[in-house]
Amino acid sequence: MKIKADYANEPQWKQLTIKSRLPEELKCLDEIAHNMWWAWNYEARNLFKSLDEPLYESVSHNPVLLLDRLSYERKEAIVKDKNLMKKVKEVYDKFCNYMNVKPNSKRPSVAYFSMEYGLNQVLKIYSGGFGMLAGDYLKEASDSNVDLCAVGFLYRYGYFTQTLNMDGQQIAKYDAQDFNSLPIERVLDKDGNPLVVDVPYMNYQVHVYVWAVNVGRIKLYLLDTDNELNSEYDKPITHSLYCGDWENRLKQEILLGIGGILTLKKLGISKQIYHCNEGHAALCNLQRLCDYVESGLSFNQAMELVRASSLYTVHTPVPAGHDYFDEQLFGKYMGGYPQKLGISWDEFIGMGRSNPDDHGERFCMSTFACNTCQEVNGVSKLHGWVSQKMFASYWKGYFPEENHVGYVTNGVHFPTWCATEWRKLYDKYFDESFMSDQSNEDIWHAIYNVPDDEIWNTRMILKQKLVKYIREKFTQAWLKNQGDPSRVVSLLERINPNALMIGFCRRFATYKRAHLLFTDLDRLSKIVNDPERPVLFFFSGKAHPADGAGQGLIKRIFEISQRPEFLGKIIFLEDYDMRLARRLVSGVDIWMNTPTRPLEASGTSGEKAEMNGVVNLSVLDGWWVEGYREGAGWALPQKRTYENQEYQDRLDAATIYSLLENDIIPMYYSKNEKGYSEDWIKVVKNSIATIAPHYTMKRQLDDYYDKFYIKEAARFKKLSANDNQLAKQIALWKETVAERWDSIHVVSKNDEVLTNGAETGVKYKLQYVIDEQGLDDAVGLELVTLNNEHSHSDHQVYSVDEFKVVGHEGNNYTFEVEVEPNEAGTFRTGVRMFPKNKELPHRQDFCYVKWLD
Ligand SMILES: *Cc1c(COP(=O)(O)O)cnc(C)c1O
Repeated sequence: MKIKADYANEPQWKQLTIKSRLPEELKCLDEIAHNMWWAWNYEARNLFKSLDEPLYESVSHNPVLLLDRLSYERKEAIVKDKNLMKKVKEVYDKFCNYMNVKPNSKRPSVAYFSMEYGLNQVLKIYSGGFGMLAGDYLKEASDSNVDLCAVGFLYRYGYFTQTLNMDGQQIAKYDAQDFNSLPIERVLDKDGNPLVVDVPYMNYQVHVYVWAVNVGRIKLYLLDTDNELNSEYDKPITHSLYCGDWENRLKQEILLGIGGILTLKKLGISKQIYHCNEGHAALCNLQRLCDYVESGLSFNQAMELVRASSLYTVHTPVPAGHDYFDEQLFGKYMGGYPQKLGISWDEFIGMGRSNPDDHGERFCMSTFACNTCQEVNGVSKLHGWVSQKMFASYWKGYFPEENHVGYVTNGVHFPTWCATEWRKLYDKYFDESFMSDQSNEDIWHAIYNVPDDEIWNTRMILKQKLVKYIREKFTQAWLKNQGDPSRVVSLLERINPNALMIGFCRRFATYKRAHLLFTDLDRLSKIVNDPERPVLFFFSGKAHPADGAGQGLIKRIFEISQRPEFLGKIIFLEDYDMRLARRLVSGVDIWMNTPTRPLEASGTSGEKAEMNGVVNLSVLDGWWVEGYREGAGWALPQKRTYENQEYQDRLDAATIYSLLENDIIPMYYSKNEKGYSEDWIKVVKNSIATIAPHYTMKRQLDDYYDKFYIKEAARFKKLSANDNQLAKQIALWKETVAERWDSIHVVSKNDEVLTNGAETGVKYKLQYVIDEQGLDDAVGLELVTLNNEHSHSDHQVYSVDEFKVVGHEGNNYTFEVEVEPNEAGTFRTGVRMFPKNKELPHRQDFCYVKWLD
């Protein structure tokens, strides 16, 4: 036999996980590490840090990894350290006291669905403000002790980490997360094996592992398809956020909505309210419809129950930002559903079209959400109005301001975003009830009792902390990526904590206009290079890997920051994440935001700044329209001056320069003999006292309950009582009205005033007789008057006067209304007929409208 040069088979590796064993005395730390509670409790974070500070830094503040990597000697030493063990006990007691509070069952229970959650930088399942909002919401749900659970994805790669190359080109890196080193737990079935949920896709199933994140008292279930039970084709469903093609996106949305409901079912969880955070989650209503139909209800009956118990929150102010799926792709995955629901394909796909009969229209997730959720809301007052207009075409027959789309203005979780230094200051001066009564402005007014120099010192400590953090975090990376070490060193040295520091940090989407400041570089150079009054700008944020324009912006800002006159004055900080955000929103003096109106649905980073004594300079858009108070920050006007965006950009830039030159910089540097500006402290105090109280997550959560959850839960209870009696009744009533709608007609009328004209101060009567086709008082009539063209209102409707039924004979109902015009002018009027039933939550719930001749 010929002897080969070598002969070996492939190694047969087996994965062996070795867990670090903790001494009995430290087991409680593992429990704390596996509850995100530590993320918003600084005593817990400080405790982990004190176990081994260098190690804590090297594991990027991940307590699970920290405990795993603690050396044997260190563990021994900790157990012997009486002081440290006392702290361990204190923190654990605090944790147990928090966890032992029984859930408050008075408020309705909620299941919350979202594609991303920003809980802490350790868990990379978020990309930007949208995720942060969901994460903050869960933390507040825990603090407020409501009955809520949430569903999302455990992404293998999450969102990318960002570096810049020497030219300022963004490099996106996707690192796989090792699930064993994260503060999560695998959900097991009753036999102790990993729970597997089977989610139907076409003619096969995708097998989903489920992980749980303990967010204080709240459970967040994360779905994971990247496992050996699935084909290479399906593993990537939960690989990364907002990547891949439309097909993967549809597969993700099927997983979130349908898989999410199937998971909750398998876990035996059912809630009163189903909250879709963005349209991505809307298919949860599809699964719920299927479940009701399977239990024996008709599609229309099921729809009554599903709608009554669901809420859709929209975050995207432009129609193009919503998800649309081609019929072919949608059909490939969803083809089996019409049969399950007992409806036709056209009826099914029509639920995602604004004109259901238009076969060219793609299926839109947001339309489906609007059609299957009783309530819809935007995320600030202005965005609520923008959304009313954006969705107006779904509810023909009504004007945008008449539809039911409401709003809850976003807030931020106070304990997460308030720097520890401020937290301690508030604890010292504010009433004890503060944490449970955060929206109470009176409590915050105690800030006026704090001595000015204490405020100033707190600000200075946080400014220095930011600069220190930047030096520690970026030195190595910049030396590696930016060449010329002497320039990097000089840049870092030039960062002056005593300068007026301004931050602009958020996703680099072009509508956010990060470029605005660079409209006039000479003027900017004069501003930053005044030796007496130095000013420093920090920029930070990621651009979506597919967004070339956003990346171009980063490159341009980076290039400018490397010019000699801007070196150390304009600084781009890579890889904006929650940790860097926490440092920045508390470390700068001014938080700047310059979105194109009205595209900032809410924005939240400016709200984080408020609670840290950082003052906003922002376009009056999103939350700032409501938040801005004179003497408590600076605002660029809400109304556009120019239709032309380029002119508007130039005007806004000029406004920013002159605000800086004439107001902000002189005020900041008008220092007294103690070395600080009293006027500045006044602005800081005003903004803490009058703005911060209204933008906490507690206020937001309370708003969701007060405006939506409580109302919906009460109605759902009524509909579902006695074997869904009322739901069945309403469905039947709607079916009957719909059948006869076209034959309901005007028998006679007296509306002479509409043709002959009227005079102010005179009363007129209109009368209609309507044949209701055997229905019993099932329709209403109203006289709709529109504003004339010269009106300054952006609303079209001038007035709506409802007719009264004054009598009926057989099928004929007589309607009358009396009007007395009090304003002269030319108006357009029309009479509108609608289905009338006091059990309907609002008109759009049964959106049949007939304008009478
Ligand atoms: C708060 C936050 C955001 C949102 O910022 P906006 O200015 O509201 O867009 C984005 N990313 C991170 C990391 C944040 O902490």
